[in-house]
Amino acid sequence: EITLAQLRRWLLAFTDRIIQQELYLTELDAAIGDADHGTNMRRGMDKVRQRITDENAPCPDVSTLFRTVAMTLISSVGGAAGPLYGAFFLRAARGTNNGAKSITLLQLAQMFRHGLEGVQQRGKAQLDEKTMIDTIYPAVEALEQAAQAGKSVADALALAREAAEAGMKHTIVLQASKGRASYLGPRSIGHQDPGATSAYYLFETAAETLG
Ligand code: ADP
Ligand code: MG
Ligand code: MG
Repeated sequence: EITLAQLRRWLLAFTDRIIQQELYLTELDAAIGDADHGTNMRRGMDKVRQRITDENAPCPDVSTLFRTVAMTLISSVGGAAGPLYGAFFLRAARGTNNGAKSITLLQLAQMFRHGLEGVQQRGKAQLDEKTMIDTIYPAVEALEQAAQAGKSVADALALAREAAEAGMKHTIVLQASKGRASYLGPRSIGHQDPGATSAYYLFETAAETLG
């Protein structure tokens, strides 16, 4: 079982990681975009942290927690990534039962699968277009497989993290065909995608906090 408190801790750890890596994310975006991905994500996750630690408006269940994260990101992040992360959390929220205060590993995998579908519907990117999909897709596949094979939460999330890392690194050799980086054509090759990098932190911090 993964509890509401653990999921909250995960989101706070993700916020901390984004803040730590803000400059790095912006540097990656400077190479193939408009040098704002770190700033965008930091602004959004700062708001998420304020919102989910507000004792006057607690999130009573998993679905509300994810929905709150989604709405906060959608309303506070200007760039492409805000609505895409928003779609991830919004659709993930729909993948769980209303009112649930804890979820199983299989349910987490299901929620992430829905989240991935949300990002794909919103951004129309497939695998290998040098976007956050290149991180999220293999991580969700690994998580699902591990959950179905009956692995522990810790083992499953460790496998998802590894798959996410490989996917993130694979974006270096890809040419971008979605988002701002696609304007560079072949000159986008040789740089790691910023969104794939921030998405890696989702899985890295999940492995650290949910296991
Ligand atoms: P912007 O490009 O508007 O400045 P950000 O810099 O915050 O927004 O985010 C850029 C990241 O968004 C990219 O690195 C990429 O991973 C992701 N991205 C852009 N377009 C798409 C898309 N259509 N589908 C999935 N991810 C995308
Ligand atoms: Mg940008
Ligand atoms: Mg921008």
